[in-house]
Amino acid sequence: MALAAAALAGGMTGLRSLVFLDSALVPALEGRDLVVQGVVSDMPQRNEAGLRFRLQVESAWLDGVATPLPPRIAVGWYGGVYPTGTERAGLQRQPDAVQAGERWRMTLRLKAPHGSRNPLGFDYELWLWEQGVQATAYVRAGADDPVPQRLAQTGLYPIALARQTVRDRILAQVAPRASAGLMAALVVGDQNAIERADWNVFRATGVAHLMSISGVHITMFAWAASLLLGALWRRSRRLCLGWPAPQAALVGGVLLATAYSAFAGWGVPAQRTCLMLATVALLRLSGTRWPWPQVWMLACAAVVALDPWALLQAGFWLSFVAVGVLFATDSGASRAHSTGAASRIFHMAREQWVITVALTPLTLLLFGQVSVVGLLANAVAIPWVTLVVTPLSLLGVAVPGVWDLAAGAVGWLLAGLQGLAALPWATWSVAVPPVWVGAAGVLGGLVLAYPWPWPLRGLGLPLLLPVFLWQAPLPPPGQFELLAADIGQGNAVLLRTATHALLYDAGPRYSLESDAGERVLVPLLQALHTRLDRVVLSHRDTDHVGGAAAVLGMQSQADLLSSIATEHPLQALRPVQHCMAGQAWRWDGVDFAVLHPQAGDYDRAAKPNALSCVLRVSNGARTALLVGDIEQPQEWRLVADSRAQLKADVLLVPHHGSKTSSSAEFLDAVAPQFALVQAGYRNRFGHPAAPVLQRYGERQIVVHDSPHCGAMVWQSWNPQNVACVREDGLRYWHHHVP
Ligand SMILES: [Zn+2]
Repeated sequence: MALAAAALAGGMTGLRSLVFLDSALVPALEGRDLVVQGVVSDMPQRNEAGLRFRLQVESAWLDGVATPLPPRIAVGWYGGVYPTGTERAGLQRQPDAVQAGERWRMTLRLKAPHGSRNPLGFDYELWLWEQGVQATAYVRAGADDPVPQRLAQTGLYPIALARQTVRDRILAQVAPRASAGLMAALVVGDQNAIERADWNVFRATGVAHLMSISGVHITMFAWAASLLLGALWRRSRRLCLGWPAPQAALVGGVLLATAYSAFAGWGVPAQRTCLMLATVALLRLSGTRWPWPQVWMLACAAVVALDPWALLQAGFWLSFVAVGVLFATDSGASRAHSTGAASRIFHMAREQWVITVALTPLTLLLFGQVSVVGLLANAVAIPWVTLVVTPLSLLGVAVPGVWDLAAGAVGWLLAGLQGLAALPWATWSVAVPPVWVGAAGVLGGLVLAYPWPWPLRGLGLPLLLPVFLWQAPLPPPGQFELLAADIGQGNAVLLRTATHALLYDAGPRYSLESDAGERVLVPLLQALHTRLDRVVLSHRDTDHVGGAAAVLGMQSQADLLSSIATEHPLQALRPVQHCMAGQAWRWDGVDFAVLHPQAGDYDRAAKPNALSCVLRVSNGARTALLVGDIEQPQEWRLVADSRAQLKADVLLVPHHGSKTSSSAEFLDAVAPQFALVQAGYRNRFGHPAAPVLQRYGERQIVVHDSPHCGAMVWQSWNPQNVACVREDGLRYWHHHVP
């Protein structure tokens, strides 16, 4: 039976994938101007650059001919001035006040969902896949483009429209920006409304799950709602005679949680949690007295049958454990009814304590980071948010004055959390272990906790050993590893020796609120448990320093070597030492040397590219050369001045493969086996350029680029191989780059 069920589940998942893939975006349509008519299916989100929303496509035309498109696409509409030479050059029309449920006709440029692929990094393509989004697009809104047309309000998405109305009213009426953002996140699930600095506070104090309408939060909401409903129900003799209070509380709790989830955006984690809660409730109502492990497994099976991809998401496992602890142990709602209010509060405190303790090791295994102050922060924040802030924020929808109370309650919470986050030991992080180590650890914990006789429980101890003994792999002494992160259009390369680490460039800035540092590099360094000794920023262009502030903020011990000017804002974070030819140091038997620029170059008014710090890393046998954005004149000078030092096994392709660089003379001098291009998928500069690639091809140099390869890893003790994270971990939901 089990085998048949597994085969059926696997087959169904495969079939669903094939049907879904069938409506994927045709690569030939990427980058073309398409006229698209569709309905805005979700609450639009506004940020500093423009507007983002989901569009349910009704019809589309390419050069007047109807053409099929994926049914659901993610659209961005960005206004303002874009520099010439860019894809959206010129003045772009500011976005209109788009509302959920409206039918629009607009000119769009589409591309397939493409996210960065890094070791242990977030899988953006899977995230879009689960939501059924098969293309991303931006509105062509230049002076020569047709004006986007609002055709009608269809009334097709009333909940999304209601959410948008409430969100806009909160943002307009509540004065403190941070409080308003948090209330919008809690009531309508608009996490964009929370500012980035506040997110860092929430993460450091382990309460981020409360702000993002996660499974844990909805479980807590259902449980609090059923307690409250049960207490009210018991006040009426008539009601109790009609229907027993525990059952009314159970059903009411699940229904209220479902209504709340729907209003809060009905995200994938919320759907899963409601399904789990409903399964548990139905089972209990049916009167069957199943042992709790079966109840738990059935809830899990119901979710996985509908959404098999949930198994790959950390959030699924967190809410799975939370639901298990709260409902399957049968210590929550049903036991707390017999006694007074004091006892109920005691139970509430205990449940929440158990949840936090149960989730802590799992969080450590899933994210490699756990909040030490999290126990205390959650002990206060969970009841405060669940019982005070959320109900007041929801009540404010009907009675507007209540929002001021809610804003006050949020203000206190923020102040308290900021105090906790500022503590030096607020978070504790470890390297993310491989899955088998994590699974053994969780299993060991379960065996230890299960009420078996103690000798049997003792068997859990050896299962815990790998968790404590496991060490993140590091290069052997005398060797080094080069990891070119997938950060889109820019440079960011992590160099590690046995006990030291250096980051060469910090990737691009994506928008005012997000950059490669915060999105990719800080999580990567955390997952690898790497402490940087030095950050080298080759030059001041934003595709090289965009993520520097985030990285330097997290790595206080790292010093900074760069060619950026003395008045650059980054100087405020860290004193900068100018990189200069002749600088050299040795870490664990590996030599690092700066080959460019010369001292005199700083006095001449040169392009920033010409000042790029060129770094040579060598252990005598193997060599890597990182050259930033140097152009032909600098290449020729390097060939003339330091030809002997240029020969390398691996080269970070200068200027992302631009035509300005990779001259024949330079390539002949370096003569690498591998060349790595860090560039964005379909980047607007056309990097790497075809003639440049041809020059590499003529010399039998193997070129890897980040759009095809994702993050690229090369190791001096395994020099014949470049590992590609995207290719090695390619699954059917990932973008197959043409
Ligand atoms: Zn660059």
